[in-house]
Amino acid sequence: MRNFTRLAHKTQKLLSEYHHWLPFFNDCLLCHYSTSSQQLICQTCLQDLDNFPLGYDLLFDNPKASADISHENIDGITLVATYQRPFSTALPQLKFHQSIQHAKWLGQLLSEQLEHLAWRNIDCICPVPLHRERLASRGFNQAELLCRFLSVTQPIKHLLIRRKSTQAQTRLTRRDRLNNLKNAFYCPHDLTGKSIVLIDDVITTGTTVNEAAKELKRQGATAVFVAAVAIRLKT
Ligand SMILES: [Zn+2]
Repeated sequence: MRNFTRLAHKTQKLLSEYHHWLPFFNDCLLCHYSTSSQQLICQTCLQDLDNFPLGYDLLFDNPKASADISHENIDGITLVATYQRPFSTALPQLKFHQSIQHAKWLGQLLSEQLEHLAWRNIDCICPVPLHRERLASRGFNQAELLCRFLSVTQPIKHLLIRRKSTQAQTRLTRRDRLNNLKNAFYCPHDLTGKSIVLIDDVITTGTTVNEAAKELKRQGATAVFVAAVAIRLKT
């Protein structure tokens, strides 16, 4: 009997750890209720999402919000949604817990946006890098994790090196962010005539992606676009 209990316990534990990989079992990533569908999100949660329309480009579709962020070196910015629930819950799961399921879902949403944009002749996709010290302490780069789940035909290329170990940006003023990130990126590649899409998880002031785009353009890129999951809009 004891063996049976132990076996039942083990089976239950295995199922709880791996059931996301089984086609007939699925818990919704957002509400955690079981769903019979093979989607990562249940129908009820899908209907509640308040995403930007497909093909959304902040620079064209929201000039007022664009004016609040740094984008001098950027030719287009697509986003899935504003940084609010459920994205304010899902993104930390990606960033701090390396949740593959969340990366898969958010990567799918980003891919849908990219599919519907008129950004022509994209040569490659590039994740915004972390500094090697941050990468060593976190163990992974959330932007790279997102890239892994993009359904795109272009290659993913690591074109940038982050050479400054910048402190966390969230609490800094805009001017401090600018100083903090000035020349933070270095690109050792010749990018003459290339069009590149930068991938990041969240945009707050645009300083990070704008500095990364500046470096890509210094190396000859003709167009740099940005695709991020969410934006923190000023209220
Ligand atoms: Zn749900």
